[in-house]
Amino acid sequence: MATAIQRTFIVDCPWCKAKVAASESGRAERSGFDDDAGEPYASKVLVGTCPSCHSILVGETEQIGFEDYDSDQDRWRDVVRIYPKPPKVFSSFRIPKVVKDSLNEADRSLQAGANIAACVMLGRALEALCRDILDSVPESTPTTTPPATTAKPKKKIMLGEGIKKLKDRKVIDDRLYDWSQQLQAFRNLAAHPEDISISRHDAEDLQTFVNAIVEYVYDLAERYEEFKNRVDARAKRKKT
Ligand SMILES: [Zn+2]
Repeated sequence: MATAIQRTFIVDCPWCKAKVAASESGRAERSGFDDDAGEPYASKVLVGTCPSCHSILVGETEQIGFEDYDSDQDRWRDVVRIYPKPPKVFSSFRIPKVVKDSLNEADRSLQAGANIAACVMLGRALEALCRDILDSVPESTPTTTPPATTAKPKKKIMLGEGIKKLKDRKVIDDRLYDWSQQLQAFRNLAAHPEDISISRHDAEDLQTFVNAIVEYVYDLAERYEEFKNRVDARAKRKKT
């Protein structure tokens, strides 16, 4: 009797802090042809265990090349871990694509052990947040601000200046500002061609801080606004 070949998939183990060949014990797949997009699609979720620490790992991947369609062979994206420690999901639709893309890239970099690249991407996410928020919040906020008539060509806000302005305009508080400054310091180290190393531990902490800032600035602000509108509307109804 032939022994079944043990299938494995390469995925990041958060406990071993390394890419491992997880022994696959189950999978779900789906594929078909998307008539709207006019192209085939396929994705799969893989369940397995780490060969080293034996913890359960779940990853997902999608097909990016289809044999006999647009590629000489089937090609799949690197498996991204979705359990444990799934990538952070945000609720606000206002988060710009460049912020979300940068955070995703940072997460993929971390899972690939590329900590310096992860820091660069985290800095990019925060810089994009600064530009998005500062472009939509007026410079000073007295109640009767006349619209700016002297339209000077706008210069793009850089990270250091951006986080300071976020603090000055009370978009972020002192603590978030401290975290932002740390991130800026690491980002600056990471962006220059110096011989440095950044530990995964530090990069993961910075990722947590940036996620918290994005959540605070977008998700929580939006949620509080909705909450307050409900409370105000109720108070108004009671009065009448
Ligand atoms: Zn492990």
